[in-house]
Amino acid sequence: MPTETVYGLAANALDPLACTAVYALKGRPADNPLIVHVWDLGHAQTLARTDSRAEQLAGDFWPGPLTLVLERKDGLGTVALRAPVHPVARQLIWLSERPLAAPSANLSGRPSPTTAQHVAEDLGGTPVLILDGGPSAFGLESTVVDLTKNPAAILRPGAVSAEALAAYGVEASASGSRPPSPGTRYRHYRPRVPLVVLVDGARGRAADALGPWARDLSSRGEVVACLAVGAGLPEGVLGRSFPSVEAMATGLFAAFRELENEASVIVVAAPGAEGLGRAIRDRLWRAAGGVFRTAGEPVQPELERGD
Ligand code: AMP
Ligand code: MG
Repeated sequence: MPTETVYGLAANALDPLACTAVYALKGRPADNPLIVHVWDLGHAQTLARTDSRAEQLAGDFWPGPLTLVLERKDGLGTVALRAPVHPVARQLIWLSERPLAAPSANLSGRPSPTTAQHVAEDLGGTPVLILDGGPSAFGLESTVVDLTKNPAAILRPGAVSAEALAAYGVEASASGSRPPSPGTRYRHYRPRVPLVVLVDGARGRAADALGPWARDLSSRGEVVACLAVGAGLPEGVLGRSFPSVEAMATGLFAAFRELENEASVIVVAAPGAEGLGRAIRDRLWRAAGGVFRTAGEPVQPELERGD
């Protein structure tokens, strides 16, 4: 199903066999829990206990790209819940009259799908029905907030910014500029070609380092693609300059899927860690296998080859 974040592979959350099928189709590790999609707060309360913090966050951000981790009503641990705003997702929840467990509809490890075509690329060979709701508006997954702790904390940065959540007493995780877990537990979001991520350093801006990297890699016979926000791309490279951080968020995964077919290496100038930039940097960090290069440092061409 289309959602405003990315496309989801939806199954009846109350049917263990259906949920098992979702794990099997995606090749998803069994210990990575699914987000359950509900109609509204009342629907969420059939599954989970809510306190005033949860009710306020749901009141202000639902339907929308915010996931709340709550204690299950049956006492069997926690559950992550969100009410999506995309009209097709909402209709599907309404018509099916049950909560829908829906991880991103990509094969585990691949960039998340932001169009129906991306889903078909990954899952077309399997018996799934794809609802085409057009390209996803945000293009990045929901922000996940853990409300089983006090203070509440962001588990995964996403489409709702840490700045917006700070007003509710939600703490940002340390994962803003340089996330602690280098994506080694799960391979995530990876294009099929190596990815170099450049961040601002004391000696230069990420976008200014694109040129030296592109020249060096090209001279080694690589076909280089670059992604940046609001900066000109080096001459002779493929890729895209996005007009805004929001546009990079929307188009990042689609760009990975496009450029992996045209280039032999993708070089990204990461945005700053403010606002949506935090979520983009989290995805880039994982997609690059936990390596950021700092602008101004010498070009280091030893690249980890993806699968
Ligand atoms: P995805 O389905 O790929 O968007 O990933 C869902 C993410 O939601 C997981 O990777 C977890 O980080 C988070 N999540 C889902 N359920 C829980 C839960 N019960 N407790 C903590 N985090 C959860
Ligand atoms: Mg996913």
